[in-house]
Amino acid sequence: MPLEFKLNPSAQRKNTIDFLKAGLYKVSPLGYYGEFGGAFIPEMLYPNVEELAEKYLDIIQDDGFQKEFQSLLHDYVGRPTPLYPAKRLSEKYKAHIYLKREDLNHTGAHKINNTVGQILLAKRLGKTRIIAETGAGQHGVATATVCALMNLPCVVYMGEVDMQRQAPNVARMRMLGAEVRPAMSGSKTLKDATNEAIRDWINNPSDTHYIIGSVVGPYPYPDMVARFQSVISEEMRKQLIEKEGNELPDYVIACVGGGSNAAGSFYHFLNNDEVKLIAVEAAGEGVASGHTAATTVVGKIGIIHGSKTMLMQTEDGQIEEAYSISAGLDYPGVGPLHAHLFKTGRAQYLNATDEEALQAALELTRLEGIIPALESAHALAKLKDIAFKPDDVVVVCLSGRGDKDMETYIKRLEI
Ligand SMILES: *Cc1c(COP(=O)(O)O)cnc(C)c1O
Repeated sequence: MPLEFKLNPSAQRKNTIDFLKAGLYKVSPLGYYGEFGGAFIPEMLYPNVEELAEKYLDIIQDDGFQKEFQSLLHDYVGRPTPLYPAKRLSEKYKAHIYLKREDLNHTGAHKINNTVGQILLAKRLGKTRIIAETGAGQHGVATATVCALMNLPCVVYMGEVDMQRQAPNVARMRMLGAEVRPAMSGSKTLKDATNEAIRDWINNPSDTHYIIGSVVGPYPYPDMVARFQSVISEEMRKQLIEKEGNELPDYVIACVGGGSNAAGSFYHFLNNDEVKLIAVEAAGEGVASGHTAATTVVGKIGIIHGSKTMLMQTEDGQIEEAYSISAGLDYPGVGPLHAHLFKTGRAQYLNATDEEALQAALELTRLEGIIPALESAHALAKLKDIAFKPDDVVVVCLSGRGDKDMETYIKRLEI
């Protein structure tokens, strides 16, 4: 039976979010960024989502929580990650280019910042079981990792097709002790895995926490995930003072799948209008090719995974499959805060094709000795398209490392 997504009518929720608590994205008490966001969920999930919305801010702003979160980020994840001045890249593009090295985090990407935060939250909510959905398996691995760390049982839903395509990540999750359950319906990919995870949550409302992997889903997920990832821009500001004597760069550039590494990279610069925020989506084989994930170009307003946002859909409103060479970017929507940043123009949305990303990955490897994730290579690919001034300070979020993409690099770059 198809899940029916309805607007959570809880206009009754206490307006507990004062100005400070609204965070820099200024989410409204009902979870809106301008016209985007909200919580469109099956009725059976209202209590779960409501519990989270009521409690998440108090929990994550608590001193004890912050102490445990910060010490795990430091000792387990390996933060702060370096802000690396990329000398040869800077010479090539004639600007001061820095790479925020999220690839050096434990498990190789920024996703672990969020899963560490959410597992600590789950414990404080008294939850004893964790579920997650995963597409390429990166979020599944980051979730299975923190479940092993905290000794909590973990079920990861993954499309059956994705399980075949991403076998090494399935093996990692299993070695970490997670159960990987195949989603067999529809196209057997991410959106089907998401539906299975939602069904599981409906059936296990009291003991289970659902860890969503990006700034997507019903409120409060987009805000919560953005806050956990905001450590990225918090560190950037401190590191820029040390390196440039000024905490504000001219540009921050990040790739966007659902948009969590970009949301975290932009977070502490949102109110500084002189900082240009550039988000890079995956164009796939080209924005007009029919094989793309450039949501802000080809998408329209609709509802996906519980929130109102921009998404790729057919004439009659069915969600369209997204395509990108990079498994972390082939998502048919963007988080609602990105739809808002796009619409208001606070951030500029560019896109890079598969081929541009491949060439940018090779270029970074040869210039700096760093093999980037294909996702991050989309952000790097736009350096050639922006007219920098020689004094411009540019920070690119290197969201992850490229080990997982070696098969694609070998095949497509004929290495
Ligand atoms: C998952 C992933 C992404 C895309 O997710 P966002 O939520 O858009 O950040 C980007 N880079 C890497 C390395 C990833 O694993």
